[in-house]
Amino acid sequence: MKEVRVRFAPSPTGPLHIGGVRTALYNYLFARKHHGKFLLRIEDTDQTRFVPGAENYIIESLQWSGIQFDEGVHIGGPYAPYRQSDRKEMYHQYAMQLINNETAYYAFDTPEELEALRKDFESRKETFQYGPQTRMGLRNSLTLSENDVKTLLEAGEHYVIRVRIPDHETIVVQDLIRGLVSVDSHLLDDKVLYKSDGMPTYHLANVVDDYLMKISHVIRGEEWLPSAPLHVLLYRYFGWEADMPEFAHLPLLLKPDGNGKLSKRDGDRLGFPVFPLRWTDPKSGEVSSGYRESGYLPEAFINMLALLGWNPGTEQEILSMDELIELFSIDRVGKSGSKFDPEKAKWFNHHYLSALPDEKIAGLLGKILIDKGIDATPVLILSVCPLIKERANLIPDLWEQSWFFFTPPVSYDEKVVQKFWKPETPALLNRISDLLKKQDDFSTDALDIAIKSFIHDNELGMGLVMNTLRLVLVGGSFGPGVAAIISVLGKKEAQSRIEKAIAYLGN
Ligand code: GLU
Repeated sequence: MKEVRVRFAPSPTGPLHIGGVRTALYNYLFARKHHGKFLLRIEDTDQTRFVPGAENYIIESLQWSGIQFDEGVHIGGPYAPYRQSDRKEMYHQYAMQLINNETAYYAFDTPEELEALRKDFESRKETFQYGPQTRMGLRNSLTLSENDVKTLLEAGEHYVIRVRIPDHETIVVQDLIRGLVSVDSHLLDDKVLYKSDGMPTYHLANVVDDYLMKISHVIRGEEWLPSAPLHVLLYRYFGWEADMPEFAHLPLLLKPDGNGKLSKRDGDRLGFPVFPLRWTDPKSGEVSSGYRESGYLPEAFINMLALLGWNPGTEQEILSMDELIELFSIDRVGKSGSKFDPEKAKWFNHHYLSALPDEKIAGLLGKILIDKGIDATPVLILSVCPLIKERANLIPDLWEQSWFFFTPPVSYDEKVVQKFWKPETPALLNRISDLLKKQDDFSTDALDIAIKSFIHDNELGMGLVMNTLRLVLVGGSFGPGVAAIISVLGKKEAQSRIEKAIAYLGN
């Protein structure tokens, strides 16, 4: 295989959707697996769709995800510049090469003329295509005299350069995922390659840059498959067939119900993020949620995305980036779309979160506490971590599962009170408070034995005592084991909570 060089080539038209991250990921895995290079190229030739902030968002998203580049718009490299608007001057000569070998031509039709034609075709229930069937009746360098063309160009008339699609020919795209894809050229149109404002279109810039940047494999979303025959044709027209990259078009990411492509709009509508990071639309101010801000770990996010469209050939689901690199192959990318499963995303996150060492969990929880303005000692934070990490799916759950260690309950769950608070409860709690007072060993095990012996010796109900204690300590019927809670809270705090509950709930 020639040197593997792959690229991720997003257009900065908005936030990067998770499908885009998956495309970048598969390129990255492929590059690393084959000891090749991976580059980030920004395709911003369509200035009408440019969105400020989108390029930075793309870079930050990929950095957060742990997808690394060897060359790119943000780090430079031997084929710089990597932003197409900065390469603008380069494309003209390539457009001219095609004009000169007559595989492209100038077209002078105005937008109004083309619109009128479109309407006219529509009224006859046909679709207008600028192509083999129509071009000889239109205003272009194939129908005008050489002199007329020269005069129009010298007069600064607006023009576009269009590719000349062959009349009837089967164009074959060899795709690494789909096999041979053949298209009859009469289904294609003479796409615009270049405009008189000096800007190339996506097709020209994409092919020229892939060639100049020595791209070996084009791995991209299925939505680009219809463009592939034109790209194959352009390689031929330029005489670059020997250097044409191999193509791999990735299957779509589907909505959770499998009904259609997962779209940018689906996320917050269905209650899960479709973007890696939170995005605020610069025009409307509309905010879309992101995986990072929702409390996902990048490792879980990447593991989940890797398996949406690819499988390792075994039942193994938990795979680190290094394992993914080791195992990745295009052969195992499926042909059909993969349903996105938001519950599975949480499952992955739960796995990675609960596998973190307590010190890391303490760091995450510590940040939440700082945001909430809660002062807690590192020792307290660390002692809480082993009790909660199995109970959290997302980072914010660490707080949901532990707030009562840092701040006493301000109310008591009505239903639990109804069930367990009896006239004799205050007396019982006072006896337990005395027991705690006398207890020296405040380890969970020692407390557990002490409380259970007390229950046993006094012939009390286990459920009644434990649930009542839990109620006064946390305000409801949740949280880890009662002895563990008391152990972490300590003698003074546990007694104070007992006192408070008696004062609040009374007799
Ligand atoms: N600029 C295109 C995009 O936004 C790139 C497609 C390709 O990879 O060729 O996805």
